[in-house]
Amino acid sequence: MTATRKYPDALWQPLPEDETQPKRERTRCTLILHSQVGNYDLNPFFGRGSVVVESHMQQKKTGKMEQMVGLDRTADANYRANSWAISVETTDDGDPDTDPWNDHQIEEMARFAAWLHENEGLPLRACSSWTDEGIGYHSQFDEWTAAKGIGKTCPGKARIDQVPSVIARAKAIVNGDEMALTDSDLTKIANAVWDRQLRRFPDGPDTNKAGVWLTSAQTGVNTLLSDVDNTEVKTAIANLSKQVLNLQAAVAAIPTSPTAIDAVVLNALQEALSGIQGTFQVVGGTE
Ligand SMILES: [Zn+2]
Repeated sequence: MTATRKYPDALWQPLPEDETQPKRERTRCTLILHSQVGNYDLNPFFGRGSVVVESHMQQKKTGKMEQMVGLDRTADANYRANSWAISVETTDDGDPDTDPWNDHQIEEMARFAAWLHENEGLPLRACSSWTDEGIGYHSQFDEWTAAKGIGKTCPGKARIDQVPSVIARAKAIVNGDEMALTDSDLTKIANAVWDRQLRRFPDGPDTNKAGVWLTSAQTGVNTLLSDVDNTEVKTAIANLSKQVLNLQAAVAAIPTSPTAIDAVVLNALQEALSGIQGTFQVVGGTE
């Protein structure tokens, strides 16, 4: 397999060790997930001359994955698996036993795993032994941490429970299921749309009000575009924005018949929303 040093979706922020670490054994690939017990930028810490450990990647609660060591080099985060394992550190609130990875961290780790699958031969399955290829977490095997015997629990209970979700999501990405609408994305969409008075008018709709209504929806959709940072969700929202614009044009062309407008607008809008995700639920949309 040819050497792919950099994960193209990461910010490249190499540590000095990127030039001095031994070459990574690339005949097998294991991805080991960590949590740092804190909310720090680990780059300056790993970069200190006195700190002999490092991780290939770090994923904070927001923003892109950051790469600190090339994938052709080893990073010393995984004890006896260092010669082949790839590591991702993640930020938490200081207690990863109770602070799960957020949707963004899961999505970014899953994307990275999917990319490793295609570029480094990573099998998208849970590791069954410390030498097994696949996806695992730091405290999973004694051989992956020298500190297991003294209570090492990385990446914490809440996050260990989420490892299967990371694997499932990585598989879905590889299978072409690019749409990652999480519950929290859906709630954001629903709330933003309905918060902007996207609801029936108490005294019955008319073309003028329907136009105002759709303009509000458009404002809501535009605000969402700046609130959401998942690329697929952004694309979906941009498509919704176009559909709302089309609806505005359609409404402007409808003759004044309150019931017809009511039905057309509601149906079309709900269709547009369900185009984003089949399970979209109209929250608070009934009278
Ligand atoms: Zn760890």
